[in-house]
Amino acid sequence: MDVILWFFGAGLVFYVQSSIWESLFHEYILDITPRHRALLYRFRRWLPALWHVHYDHNVLHHFRTYRHSYVEQFRSPEEEQALQTVMAGQLDPWAYRQMVRSRYGATFTWAGVIPYSVPVLANFLWLLAVPSLAVGVAVVLANLIFATPYFAWSKWMHLHMHSRFEDMRREAPWPVRLILQSPYGVAVRISHFIHHRDPRRNYNLQYLADRLRGRWRAPTRAEWDEMVEMGLILPRHRAALEGRSFLLHPF
Ligand SMILES: [Zn+2]
Ligand SMILES: [Zn+2]
Repeated sequence: MDVILWFFGAGLVFYVQSSIWESLFHEYILDITPRHRALLYRFRRWLPALWHVHYDHNVLHHFRTYRHSYVEQFRSPEEEQALQTVMAGQLDPWAYRQMVRSRYGATFTWAGVIPYSVPVLANFLWLLAVPSLAVGVAVVLANLIFATPYFAWSKWMHLHMHSRFEDMRREAPWPVRLILQSPYGVAVRISHFIHHRDPRRNYNLQYLADRLRGRWRAPTRAEWDEMVEMGLILPRHRAALEGRSFLLHPF
């Protein structure tokens, strides 16, 4: 009984804490305002990973890719080539290679693993305080289940959230496809579209903290039109979700 209580209790704490970390990390590191960017740049020698994830996510993902359309990373191979030329002039060869491999911030390579897994790693400290081995196992399982969605979404789902719904169904590996076409997956696709329109809103892929922090907003009518028109979602998704206020959760 104790073990079950520990599993769900720890799971709840881990879920909330990961969501808060994601929202804060996204706001204050990944999408840091230009005013504070200089600070991150100045400390890049000591904290290179933070500078790199910011450049990858904010500069490349938000502004240098998906320029023509939310569902098209580049309009042509020449456009990608031109970006690579600019990047090669701004980055050292190692960082350049990492960022091309991270699909310009649409996923991340091993270099981004530490910043993205801080909540999961921190939770292992709980093992110092557990009363028994069985509870330790419950805490580890709760960590792997409730604290990892943020990591998994950023690493494997995000790229396919930028595809038209039907393209995603054809191209995404089956576990990604199953998740992205679930009610939660559809809600996240919609929410993330708003983040690209309004980068100071809707940071989370693991929901909750944006709402608690007053950083979430629903799409406007024009944005719904646009999402359906570009094929990001289907008309039935709009019919099911438009007007809902709580994070677009359909359940
Ligand atoms: Zn962002
Ligand atoms: Zn994105």
